[in-house]
Parts: sequence; C-alpha cells; structure tokens
Amino acid sequence: MIEVSHIEKRFGDNVVLKDVSMTLAEGTVTALVGPSGGGKSTLLRCINLLEIPTSGTVRIGEASISFQPGKKLGWSQIQPVRRQTGMVFQNFQLFPHQTVIDNVMEGLVTVLKWRKDEARTRALALLEKVGMAHKADAWPATLSGGQQQRVAIARALAPSPRVLLCDEPTSALDPELAEEVVDVLTRLAREGTTMVMATHDLRLASRVAEHVLFLDGGLIVERGAPSRIFQTPEQERTKKFIASLS
Ligand code: ADP
Ligand code: MG
Repeated sequence: MIEVSHIEKRFGDNVVLKDVSMTLAEGTVTALVGPSGGGKSTLLRCINLLEIPTSGTVRIGEASISFQPGKKLGWSQIQPVRRQTGMVFQNFQLFPHQTVIDNVMEGLVTVLKWRKDEARTRALALLEKVGMAHKADAWPATLSGGQQQRVAIARALAPSPRVLLCDEPTSALDPELAEEVVDVLTRLAREGTTMVMATHDLRLASRVAEHVLFLDGGLIVERGAPSRIFQTPEQERTKKFIASLS
C-alpha cells in the first residue's frame, strides 16, 4: 500500500539518498535505524513531501507522484500524497499559541473544513487514546515533553492518515518520559497503525517494528526483522553501528 521506489535526493552535489526503495504493507511498522546523517529524516521528509525527491516515485494507496530533475510539481500533485501522511517530530512542534485540543483540531478545521463541533469530538477521542484528554484545555508550554509528544501524536492522527511518520519520537525525552510515548506507539502498532519510525532506540524498534531498515550513507545497507538485524547483523556497517550502541 505504500511504495517508495528508487528515491534519490540531492542537496546540490550532496547525494543524501541513493536509490532507496521500500514497500510497506498496511498495518505494519518499519523502523529506520542507522548513524546520524545517514538519511533517515530526509527519507521520512521525502515520503510526506516536505522535501521533494530529485527522482523516484512515492505511492501511498491510490495517490502517486513521480519525480525527475527539472520537472516542476504543483500543490495539486503534492497535496493528495501528503494528505495520506501524518508526521511526528523529535521536538513535538505543537503550535504554542493554541491549547492542546485546538492543536489537535487545527488540521481538521482549516484543511479538511470539518465542522468545529465534529472536529472537537474527534480530537477529544484521540486525546483520550493517548491519555491526554484531561489536558485538553492546557497550553503546550505547561506540559512535560512526554505529554507534548502524546498530543503531537494525536494531532498527527486526526486526519486519519494512512501512514504515521515518526522522526526520533523519543530522543528529546528522558527515559521515564520516553516510556509513556513508547507505550502509546506500542498501542497504536498493536491496533494496526501503519508507521515508519526513525529511531536510535533499539528497544523501541524491537517492541513496535516488524521490519528494520538500516540506513547509512543514503543507502539501505541491510533489512530484516529487528531480532535478526540487532542480534545477528550481516553487513560490516550494521555490525559496527549495533556494537557502538551497546
Ligand atoms: P539522519 O536523520 O539519518 O541523521 P538526515 O536525513 O538528517 O540524516 O541527513 C542526511 C544528510 O543530508 C546529512 O549529510 C545532512 O547534512 C544532509 N541534509 C539534510 N537536510 C538538508 C538540507 N535541507 N540541506 C542540505 N543538506 C541537508
Ligand atoms: Mg534525523
């Protein structure tokens, strides 16, 4: 249902993604792991088209878009694909001037033109799901990092994306606060939310992901089940990276 084919991304002369392809089945979780600068964030941003790939194809469900150097793409081509995605950032990125519930409702009201009362009902249900309904009227700055990230997850899920993209969702958090975010992500994974998650946290990857892609130097160096990749990596670069973490 989600297919990323032969994605290349260049920033000037710097080739940051080199012919990356992957297919995600609906209801599965894929973890992107690998050293800093390996291209994880760029790959996520190429899936939701926050970055425009230099070449390749992104297909999510029925929405598909192809890229080639010099080809200009308009909002009408980008938007149908982006709409299928929700994004969770390392630093939460809640709108600071809006309450928790307004953060979650924002996309439904302004982009999807939902009625406010219906958006509010859905937002509350999502806040309930992430254990944050009791903070619906709070300001983001009054929340802990773990609470802010749980609100960010609810916000990302509000428009019912086909895939939730998470970029290092726990790395700005102390272990204790990371745990509450891991719990939410684990629950979502169990409920069949399709996710792609960049993470340094091998424990998180082991808990939620069926597939691990090891990305280094803009290439998928190795792929497989978490237990296989983490316990018996085959490629030298993967071995070195796993060893460096333990
Ligand atoms: P990771 O998330 O695995 O740490 P990134 O995708 O952030 O890796 O970065 C991969 C490479 O792309 C890095 O060399 C980084 O400097 C480069 N890069 C990322 N974004 C930009 C940008 N907007 N402009 C130029 N170079 C970028
Ligand atoms: Mg990154």
